[in-house]
Amino acid sequence: MSKTIKLYENSSYISKFNATVTDCIKVEEDDRFHGIYTYKAVLDKTAFYPEGGGQPSDRGSITLIHRSASTHNPALKNITVSAVNETNGIIYHYISAPFSAGDSVECKIDWDFRFMLMQHHTGEHIVSGLINRHFGFNNVGFHMGENYVTVDIDGKLTQEDLDFIEISANNTVQKNLGVKIDCPVPEELDVLNYRSKKQIDGDIRIVSVPGADICACCGTHVKTTGEVGVIKFISSQNYKGGTRIYMLCGKRALQDYNHKNKILYDISAQLSTKPENAHDAVSQLKSDRDRLKFENSTLMDRIFELRAAAIDASLEKIIIFEDDLLPSDLLKFSSHLTKNRQNIVFLFSGCDEKGYKYLISSSSHNIRPVAENFNEIFSAKGGGKGNCIQGTVKALKSDIMEYLEPYNFEVSADI
Ligand SMILES: [Zn+2]
Repeated sequence: MSKTIKLYENSSYISKFNATVTDCIKVEEDDRFHGIYTYKAVLDKTAFYPEGGGQPSDRGSITLIHRSASTHNPALKNITVSAVNETNGIIYHYISAPFSAGDSVECKIDWDFRFMLMQHHTGEHIVSGLINRHFGFNNVGFHMGENYVTVDIDGKLTQEDLDFIEISANNTVQKNLGVKIDCPVPEELDVLNYRSKKQIDGDIRIVSVPGADICACCGTHVKTTGEVGVIKFISSQNYKGGTRIYMLCGKRALQDYNHKNKILYDISAQLSTKPENAHDAVSQLKSDRDRLKFENSTLMDRIFELRAAAIDASLEKIIIFEDDLLPSDLLKFSSHLTKNRQNIVFLFSGCDEKGYKYLISSSSHNIRPVAENFNEIFSAKGGGKGNCIQGTVKALKSDIMEYLEPYNFEVSADI
């Protein structure tokens, strides 16, 4: 089979073209798209970019305009293309219904999606090129995801370095420079200093952004840097000894700004403050919350102390059910109920429907055998250090009471 003519190599701006189907084959089991698509069509020429070099494949549609005389396939209308790949110079368009060799088709690329990829791909060149020029580091990974683009750099960049690159990259955008694509002859390539230099059979395509980058690349790019729109670094992290940059360009950067702006305005409206004061208002809210938590904890402790004082200190067994106490409240309550007393305390918090958190403790008895029996009988899960066992149990209050009330703990009354 002859190689597919790659229309996107000469122009990234072809979004609609006519072609002839040269082959359409079933997707085999060893193909990673097996089970997702049934057929893969080959065209004499295509503007669909196959995935590669960090750029995802194009999406779009193929529509039959003239059926081959020899076809036995049923009439087709519009077939969606969501995956495209290249093997040995042949480009395969993955589809769910067959075409026949000889069919004339009209193809459309999802231009919104493609242009977004072109903005990001060119933006990535500008960023990687500038990092290479100013810091000598290389781009060792590039991924254009659904929500953001990642660029992996093989060196550590500080926030100051990243700020400098972001400003320089946006200066390059604002100069609206021409992005040049050419295929130099081997003698020219030998003396040319460019990124991604490696031995490849056939023409090497060099993408240049004046003052920012010269790089070998087969992807699709915008014609002028102004079309990239804003280049925004979202965040960065240390990654494999280097730096991973999360970035967005153009339309996606605007969408991200709109989304975050809305969040900020929502937060400030909830806090009845201006967006520029939201940060301080949240800090104040956090410190108020911490103070209230502390006050609440102190008050709860005092309440449990008073409640414990109201319970007969000579009781050998205390069983209490509560509606919604936190595990930390159970601990507080039990510490007051067992302090200077000869007893075993059983505390439960919850309800019959959802189950109970429980705590068994004592300062005078060894409660481990008691807890083990309890866990076994009610298939409860629990554990803990020392003489305090906490856990959860799914059982009825009436069943638990029926078991605990007559229970004689004298047998385990040595600690
Ligand atoms: Zn590129």
